[in-house]
Amino acid sequence: MTLRYTTAAAHVGHWLDNAPYAGEGARVASVYDPALGDVARTVALADAVDVNAVVASAAAAQPAWGALAPQRRARVLFKMKELVEHHTDALAQLITREHGKTLPDARGEVQRGLEIIEFSCGIAQLLKGQYCDNVGGGISNWSQRSPLGVTAGITPFNFPFMVPMWMAPMSIACGNSFILKPSERDPSAALLTAELFQAAGLPPGVFNVLQGDKTAVDGLLHHPDVQAVSFVGSTPIARYIYETGARMGKRTQALGGAKNHMVVLPDADLPQAADALIGAAYGSAGERCMAVSVAVAVGDIADELVQLVVQRAKALRTGDGAEPGMDMGPVVSAEAKSRIVGLIDSGVAQGAQLVLDGRGLTVANRASGYFVGPTLFDHVRADMRIYQEEIFGPVLCVLRVASLSEALALVNAHTYGNGAVCYTRDGRSAQEFAQGVQAGMVGINVPIPVPMAWNSFGGWKQSLFGDHHAYGEEGVRFYTRYKSIMQRWPDQQVQGPQFTMPVNT
Ligand code: NAD
Repeated sequence: MTLRYTTAAAHVGHWLDNAPYAGEGARVASVYDPALGDVARTVALADAVDVNAVVASAAAAQPAWGALAPQRRARVLFKMKELVEHHTDALAQLITREHGKTLPDARGEVQRGLEIIEFSCGIAQLLKGQYCDNVGGGISNWSQRSPLGVTAGITPFNFPFMVPMWMAPMSIACGNSFILKPSERDPSAALLTAELFQAAGLPPGVFNVLQGDKTAVDGLLHHPDVQAVSFVGSTPIARYIYETGARMGKRTQALGGAKNHMVVLPDADLPQAADALIGAAYGSAGERCMAVSVAVAVGDIADELVQLVVQRAKALRTGDGAEPGMDMGPVVSAEAKSRIVGLIDSGVAQGAQLVLDGRGLTVANRASGYFVGPTLFDHVRADMRIYQEEIFGPVLCVLRVASLSEALALVNAHTYGNGAVCYTRDGRSAQEFAQGVQAGMVGINVPIPVPMAWNSFGGWKQSLFGDHHAYGEEGVRFYTRYKSIMQRWPDQQVQGPQFTMPVNT
């Protein structure tokens, strides 16, 4: 099968019933190449007619797909796994040109998405119910999990392949149909993903792509045939999605923003902690929800830690992510760059010490690209905007505290609770941190503790609205309905009506 979307189309449309769909909506948005600062293509923005068409297709496809044996659904995912492996480079190229991250980082993203596909291949084991024979009076009782129907996923720009894969393989393996509404800033990877699902043997309508903005999202949120909505993005939109989804009676999970702290204790291996900070703060230009954007230096190590970070940060190479040897690409858009620069300005104005300034960085032959260099603030205070707000750029803030308990109090007072990390050699301190910290994902000497496919992903506090984390067993629970069945046969019936609560006496 020849794939048409291994390179990006000049105009990125929708995907419906295993075919490109131009849509009725007349609006389009520009998609930029952030390293060049040029408009690279356009993307369709769905209107209400497009929403209805995509949902109708997903609703028509789901009953037959949901009725298939789980093992047969899993076979499609096995094939998808092979195809994604084979097309990793093509997916990574699409991601780098629209997102900006380096190619090796984009390949890493594809690999982490692939791992959820691998996990979904074992869905039959996870959909197994629990059976109890003879719970009383010859009755047996068992539980089972059924698909929901049409599900939708609304995803952010920063992982255009991995985050959709947190959702779609799980939902599809559980017997649902899935509509992906990707970020309008990097929409091309979604079309190649759709084509790969088709090539893997997924029937028409089980995976559709609806391109668009708020109009598309609101259409999905208000459509009565959409049973569940998964969202990953910024906290204000996550809250809106959760509140609207709940009001519309939909199962909703909404993962939001982050401000992840790394607490470095005096007994830590400081060069190792500095290496970890460099990767976690500046990798993907800080545009990761698990990026470490705050370092909390405990005791008298702060000066040494800052010095080690500065040495390493000065050696980073920032440029076009498609060029070999780059550590950091551009940020995603001109708006993102001006928001990040504005926040750096605010840090200076509020009195933080700017040790490394990434404003004004220029890259040869890429004068119009959206580049911000590695930026480091020391002596940051908790009341500053650069500490309170998610910057989502290559900006690291260092705060200084006297003790682990002071560090924990600081981390726990923050409104976000996605990830939190502690560097130490001491087991007792590690335990105190891991047990006491209010965050959904914790690292002990692990800078970016993104859970594996079988351990679910999600934060606490303003980083997640809803009950279920993404993927893993939590994902199976989110994408299925629980049913309990009690059964007995006529020859086991007690005689006559009973008017009291049936109990085992
Ligand atoms: P965003 O909230 O701007 O957009 C996310 C999605 O919501 C996109 O598909 C977008 O089209 C849609 N959207 C935007 N505005 C909307 C509106 N007013 N109404 C309805 N829908 C709307 O987020 P982003 O800038 O694409 O991504 C970056 C954010 O995502 C950061 O805050 C980051 O921390 C967060 N993020 C969180 C996680 C996590 O797991 N917690 C993972 C990745 C990214």
